Amino acid sequence: MNQQDFIALEDQYGAHNYHPLPVVLSRGQGAKVWDSDGKEYFDFLSAYSAVNQGHCHPKIVGAMVEQAQTLTLTSRAFYNDKLGPYEKFICEYFGFDKVLPMNTGAEAVETAIKLARKWAYEVKGIPENQAQIIVCENNFHGRTTTIISFSNDENARRSYGPYTDGFVRIAYDDLDALKAALEANKGNVAGFLVEPIQGEAGVYVPSEGYLKGAKELCEQHGALFIADEVQTGISRTGKRLAVDHEDVKPDILILGKAISGGVYPVSAVLANDEVMNVIKPGQHGSTFGGNPVAAAVAVAALTVATEENLAGRAEELGQKFRAEISRYIESGSRIAKLVRGKGLLNAVVVNDHEESETAWNICVRMAERGLLAKPTHGNIIRFAPPLVISEEDLMKGVNIILETLKEFEDAGEGDVPMQEVNHPDHVEQI
Ligand SMILES: *Cc1c(COP(=O)(O)O)cnc(C)c1O
Repeated sequence: MNQQDFIALEDQYGAHNYHPLPVVLSRGQGAKVWDSDGKEYFDFLSAYSAVNQGHCHPKIVGAMVEQAQTLTLTSRAFYNDKLGPYEKFICEYFGFDKVLPMNTGAEAVETAIKLARKWAYEVKGIPENQAQIIVCENNFHGRTTTIISFSNDENARRSYGPYTDGFVRIAYDDLDALKAALEANKGNVAGFLVEPIQGEAGVYVPSEGYLKGAKELCEQHGALFIADEVQTGISRTGKRLAVDHEDVKPDILILGKAISGGVYPVSAVLANDEVMNVIKPGQHGSTFGGNPVAAAVAVAALTVATEENLAGRAEELGQKFRAEISRYIESGSRIAKLVRGKGLLNAVVVNDHEESETAWNICVRMAERGLLAKPTHGNIIRFAPPLVISEEDLMKGVNIILETLKEFEDAGEGDVPMQEVNHPDHVEQI
C-alpha cells in the first residue's frame, strides 16, 4: 500500500475528527520519524509534547515490554507491586504528598476539577453547588463535555450543550482580572485553573511574575492554584515544570503527555494531603489508572528526563532556536512576524490573519522538505521537537524552516508555491 491508500482508509473508516497533514508515518527513533515510503523527517511536533524523551526511547520501551510480559492490569480492586513504588517516586520527584493516577490529560483535568470542588465544599466550606472555578480565555484543557463547557473555542464547543456550570472565564495574563473575579465571587472560588504557557492557543508565554502573582492572589482568597502542565511539564520549557521558572508551587498539579514519553497513555494529579484526602474509596477512579504498565513506564520516562538533563537541553537549544529565527525576522522578513516560547516550546507567527491557510501551506511545504510541524491557528506554527534532538539536527531543522519561509516570501505573502490544499477547518487542536 502507498501513502494515499492509508489516507483513504482513514478517510473512509475513521471519524473525521482530525485533519492530519498528508504524511503516513510508520517508524520513529529519537527526534526522527519515517513515512511508509521510507522518507525521513525531523519531528518538530513531538505528538504535542508527549514525546519529549524522543521516539521509542529504549529505556522506556524496555520498561514497558518487561512489565507487559509480567503483569498488565489488576484494576484497583487489588494492590499491585508497581503502583506504590511509582507513587512514591513521582511524589518525591515533584514534591507532593500524594498522586492520583489516571490515563489521559482530559481525565486528569476532570480529576482536578472534582478534587477542587470537593475540597471547596468539605474543607473550605462553600455552600453546596456554589463552587466556582476560574479559567482563562483561549484555554485548552481537553475534550470532555465539562472541559469544553468552559472553552471559548466555538469549534470545540458548538452543538455539544447543555454545558456544565460553575466556571468563570477571565483574560489570560491579567492579574487585575483574576483579582476582580476572586472578589466578585467572594468566598465561592474553589480554584484557578491555568496553563503556565498556553500551548494550543499559540504558545502564549505570560508576563514575568504572572504565575507568582496569581498564586499569591489565590492564597489571599483561599482558592487553589491549579496548574495544567500536561503540555508544558516534564522539561519541555527548560525546567522540570513551567511553574518552576517562577518558583511557584501549585496546590494541584496536572500532568500527562510526556509523563510516559509517549509510549502509553499516563496522566496524574498531584496534591498535598489537605486536598487529596477529601477523596475517599468509591468517590473517583479509573479501571486503567495506575496499572502496572503505566507505573513502570512513567518511572522510566521521568528517570530519562533527569538522567539526560532534558530540561537543560530544552533551555539551551530553545535559546539557539529563537536566536536563529529572530535573526531572520529582524533581517526584514515579509512572512514571519515573531517567534515566542520557552525552552523547546516555541511558535512562529506568520504575517497573515487567523483564518488564513498560510500556516497550513507552510507546514505542507516543510513536510515535503523533511520537517513535520503543525499550525495551532491559521497564522501560528508550533515548533516543539523532542528534547533529545542534537544541536546539529535542530539547526538542520531551522534551515528547513527558514528556507521554506523565504520561499513563501519570494512567492508573495500567503501564496502557495507548490500544492494547493483545501480543507474546511484548518484551526487544529489536539
Ligand atoms: C493535551 C492537553 C490536554 C488534554 O490531554 P489529552 O491526553 O489529549 O486528553 C489537557 N491540557 C493541556 C494543556 C494539553 O495540552
